[in-house]
Amino acid sequence: MSDRWICMVCGYSHRGSSPPPQCPSCGAPFTAFERRERDPAARFASMDMSGRRRSGFRYVIIGNSSAGRAAAHAIGALDSAGHITVVSEESCAFYPRPLLPDLIAGLSEEDFFAANPYAQDDRPELLTGETVQAIDASARTISCLSGREVSYDALLLAVGASPIEIPWPGSEATGIAYFRTYADAQRIARLAQEAERALVVGGGLLGLEFVRAFHAAGIAVTHLVREARVGAPAVDERGGEVLKRALEDLGVDLALEEEVESFESRDGAVCAVRTSKGRRIECDVVGVAVGVRPRLELARAAGLETDRGILVDRGFQTSVAGIYAAGDVAQAHDSLWNEPRVNTSWRNSREQGEYAGIAMAGGAVQYPGAVAANYQLAAGLPLCTLGISNPAEQDGLEIDVKADPAAKTFAKIVRRDGATIGACLIGDLAQAPDIEQALKPTQAQPQSESKAEADTAAPQEADSDMHKMTQSFLKDSFAGESQAHMKYLNFAEKADDEGNANVARLFRAASYSEQVHASAHLATLDGIGSSSENLAEAMGGEGFEIDEMYPAYITVAEDQGEDEAKISFHQALEAEKVHHGLYSRAKEAVDAGKDAEIGALWVCSACGFTMEGDPPSRCPICSAPKKFFNEF
Ligand SMILES: Cc1cc2nc3c(=O)[nH]c(=O)nc-3n(C[C@H](O)[C@H](O)[C@H](O)COP(=O)(O)OP(=O)(O)OC[C@H]3O[C@@H](n4cnc5c(N)ncnc54)[C@H](O)[C@@H]3O)c2cc1C
Repeated sequence: MSDRWICMVCGYSHRGSSPPPQCPSCGAPFTAFERRERDPAARFASMDMSGRRRSGFRYVIIGNSSAGRAAAHAIGALDSAGHITVVSEESCAFYPRPLLPDLIAGLSEEDFFAANPYAQDDRPELLTGETVQAIDASARTISCLSGREVSYDALLLAVGASPIEIPWPGSEATGIAYFRTYADAQRIARLAQEAERALVVGGGLLGLEFVRAFHAAGIAVTHLVREARVGAPAVDERGGEVLKRALEDLGVDLALEEEVESFESRDGAVCAVRTSKGRRIECDVVGVAVGVRPRLELARAAGLETDRGILVDRGFQTSVAGIYAAGDVAQAHDSLWNEPRVNTSWRNSREQGEYAGIAMAGGAVQYPGAVAANYQLAAGLPLCTLGISNPAEQDGLEIDVKADPAAKTFAKIVRRDGATIGACLIGDLAQAPDIEQALKPTQAQPQSESKAEADTAAPQEADSDMHKMTQSFLKDSFAGESQAHMKYLNFAEKADDEGNANVARLFRAASYSEQVHASAHLATLDGIGSSSENLAEAMGGEGFEIDEMYPAYITVAEDQGEDEAKISFHQALEAEKVHHGLYSRAKEAVDAGKDAEIGALWVCSACGFTMEGDPPSRCPICSAPKKFFNEF
């Protein structure tokens, strides 16, 4: 059966029985995908709603994007008798903003708008093409440019950020574009169609998005970067070197430590830039990405307390009663910095919007805090920066860097007192889910269930006895698998030290397989023994015996007439037998004092099935196509 999977990092939508191994839009690993909810209310079912609103409560949300729609969605699930209005300056339907570069690069409009997790969400009344120009906090009304007034009981400002524009001489020429909205992307796509040479100004992560769009559209690109490296400030010098090599390999003309002085135009259209190094570079389209700033005008005029963003408490309440703020415009608690900060990302805005929506509907929330997380494709490479990825002050920090510009990979992990506080990965993001998990604040999430529980619950009927019975079992095994994942990596290192390279490969494959099952609740374990002991432990399963456990569950499924569960337990048993067989062979070899003879190992990135030999055209367990198999 085909499901829709949404990348929580960029909103990319994928149809299939399982998520893709890596998001084609932002490069995030498959763990960033969530299945589109079949029953939105189920996730919020056990929220503490002691502050539940009276019937007919009026919720007004300004902004129809990541934060705004997540809030509307949560409110819709929690308050069936409220009235929700979403007001948006943009005239189009909801879309994931991070997909805008893909639109320029050739993504169809149909696929672009299909990437909408709220497609079935018919609760909010949408007022599109309406610009809010003022808030009257004492009368509890907002007024729009069109003259329309809307009254609210609770108001959310989810108005995002806008690009910083610099008035260089010559900036009035046509063909110079800033990039925030669908309308901007349409305009840039039109300009790109006619253009032969693009200039991108700004070496940060958004500048790299511009480069990606123009390069994919087949235009020669010059990239003008004020700093001495690409990717600053989140990416450091060595990471910047990897990006530089990759950009140059793509044929991008990279100009570091060079700035715009002025633009030249012909017949009103931009035709060249003059730079701080005295150069004249021809270009017929210019993309400027020199930063964004939160849209604070409405908040300031309404008397809300602001700093870099609108200041909010852990329930997203601003300094004015009844008004909330979330997303790129909000300055909310950051768990790593332990202070309020503006954190701009799609997923962060969505999460904040959800918390704000729950709070607006009267739920008891305590936001655990943002963790900066950015994923994107840069110079053709997946890149992520997590937490404090490039600290200015490095005293007392341990910084572990592995950079290989030739192989185009870079991995930097930042630790304080042994705890990971940030990372930057380029080229290979396999570690990213674990690092994110390690960075996560530990306080309770707003959802009634953890992600792991929600995932296990999704494929089953919500109210079936079988589901209830298996859920607690699955929870336990998830915890086991997630621990096993880290443990197996340690086992792999140990096996490498012992010269058992094939055993090490087996453990890496096993670790990856466990990650597929459960990316949550990682724990590092001590007391690791030799490879043979490790293999024995791995064979024992994580606290259960496969030949006892699965048959028992199959019997229960049969007794209860749960055919789907029965099939899935049979499949799990078959998968476990294959894993077990591999471990047995490895253990026998190691016991005999040699490395195991194991051929090519493949792991299905959709279900974790591990096998030896050539991958089949479809996974025997979950039917994912061959391309989902990763080799170890
Ligand atoms: C080109 C591009 C690529 C990006 N790529 C990534 C990426 O790969 N990964 C990532 O995590 N993030 C990425 N981002 C950032 C991400 O899109 C933002 O962090 C996110 O959209 C913020 O969501 P938000 O809901 O807070 O605000 P926004 O998405 O900015 O939405 C705010 C909405 O409010 C509306 N609005 C504002 N003022 C008013 C008003 N007065 N009246 C009515 N409506 C109003 C705006 O029109 C807008 O629709 C990218 C951004 C851009 C522009």
